Amino acid sequence: MFPQVSPTWNCQAGASVCPCRSQNVLSSTAAFVSAGRSIIDGPLRTPARWRGSLRRDAAGYGTDLERQRYSAGFDWAVGQAITQPDEFPTIESICGLHERVVGGGQLRTGYIVVGDRQLYPHPGFVPTLLSDLLLLHSSRLRVVGPVQAAAELHLDFVSIHPFPDGNGRCARVLVSAELARAGFRSTLFTGVEQHFLRVPTLYIGTLRAYQTGRICRATCVHFLLRGAAERLTHAIAWRRSGRGTAGLGSVRSADKLGLTERSREGGDTFVHHSAWENYLQALSSQERAEAGEQVGRLEAEQVDDQNASRE
Ligand SMILES: [Zn+2]
Repeated sequence: MFPQVSPTWNCQAGASVCPCRSQNVLSSTAAFVSAGRSIIDGPLRTPARWRGSLRRDAAGYGTDLERQRYSAGFDWAVGQAITQPDEFPTIESICGLHERVVGGGQLRTGYIVVGDRQLYPHPGFVPTLLSDLLLLHSSRLRVVGPVQAAAELHLDFVSIHPFPDGNGRCARVLVSAELARAGFRSTLFTGVEQHFLRVPTLYIGTLRAYQTGRICRATCVHFLLRGAAERLTHAIAWRRSGRGTAGLGSVRSADKLGLTERSREGGDTFVHHSAWENYLQALSSQERAEAGEQVGRLEAEQVDDQNASRE
């Protein structure tokens, strides 16, 4: 289930077992996200193309060129991941991805100073840290599954900060491609860039809090998973409102998973159902409306996209 509405920043620096209990909800939140896949992806077979804005747009400093690069880079990376699912990312492919999405494609050789401190590792360690991360990612895929592994990859990549610039964008496209490689199709999932549009400062703040030791790893990973879980929640609420059910055959998929109204009395899936309800109730009505509009627009565009690609 997906019980947490706000971040639990009750971490204790240096504790061997953090009292925040975020660790206990990681796998259930990842499972919640995985379970929504067939509803949200519906009959999408080809990947949805990039639509909409970037995190930097939401934060007020994006440019047209950055958006164009990102959009083309996203479509390319997600397309590659689906047509060549056996191609595991390498340092070389990640540099290539950075070249497309941001421009540059060279690992950094200098320090990165944020404020008055060096937040990220010495540049001499970057290649080793990256190759270790890829090994770790491959084992996490087997141990914790693609959804949690993607969130962990996201966090580790931005914490290594391998490039002089555009690390966040590169990380989010890399993770999008990994989700696509694992079978996700809709940008409601794969568009990691958009998971945090509603809370752009909380996103940076949470990453910083982890990188400066104020919250534990589990809390930060859980925050990243919540981005996907929230989006899924909005999409399903949108479907259930009857406005998003036209295009993607979602009611049938929801029926299969037992996630429709009817199953409410059924028992088994009640937990999922009430988790959505709890979450939605905790949002203000304006937040609900905005999130619903955003998801609805994206869904409609994805349906258009599918129709166009069939022609
Ligand atoms: Zn903690």
